[in-house]
Amino acid sequence: MESTAVERMALLDEIENELAETARWTGRTSLSPRVRAALAETPREAFVDAGSAAAAYENRPLSIGYGQTISQPFIVAIMTELLDVGPEDRVLEIGTGSGYQAAVLARLAEHVFSIEVIPELAESAAAKLARLGITNVTVDCRDGSEGWPEHAPFDRIIVTAAGAGIPPALMEQLAEGGRMVAPVGSTPTTQTLNVITKDEGGKIEVTEGLPVAFVPLVKR
Ligand code: SAH
Repeated sequence: MESTAVERMALLDEIENELAETARWTGRTSLSPRVRAALAETPREAFVDAGSAAAAYENRPLSIGYGQTISQPFIVAIMTELLDVGPEDRVLEIGTGSGYQAAVLARLAEHVFSIEVIPELAESAAAKLARLGITNVTVDCRDGSEGWPEHAPFDRIIVTAAGAGIPPALMEQLAEGGRMVAPVGSTPTTQTLNVITKDEGGKIEVTEGLPVAFVPLVKR
């Protein structure tokens, strides 16, 4: 095996271990085969800054400039797992960042709509996705707390920056029978990863889970 492939497999093992250790918060003890394959097939090194390429397969967040980070691989894994994405799902992502999470989701969903508030990051993420030949992700620069009404409703919504609550527009744009995964909490020490479901009657249920530390969801 090529060294990147070896590193990627070792990282998957580390992720599986961390899943087992955190199962009391998430209810997930291991990666489902589809999510594991999506992670195994997505080159994280293509989404980190040139200077951090050597660290691409370490289980930690890395700086991508503009005060932002590409999330820790374990966090991408557990959020993707909790989202339960099906091949026909239309997914909304808030916080494109590097584009890595969107690339992973692109392998699992029909289409990913991804919103980034920093223009330079939106542009570079779109370029990276295009370079990899990923055609089912649409990136736009706008304020994610407003969602993307033109493409709503969404079967799945993933938020990769933390707010004090879930923006009401996102609740509205979640389809009936839909599912959202979002970090919630006003300070980095009090955030938890929430799973929000909307049933066929429109009833919303929120389950609080894993303690996490995300960058803030900002207002444009
Ligand atoms: N999913 C990313 C991680 C992104 S970090 C990845 O895989 O690399 C969170 C991102 O959310 C940052 O890029 C930040 O600029 C963005 N962000 C913060 N507030 C936002 C908002 N209101 N709307 C859209 N993006 C936002």
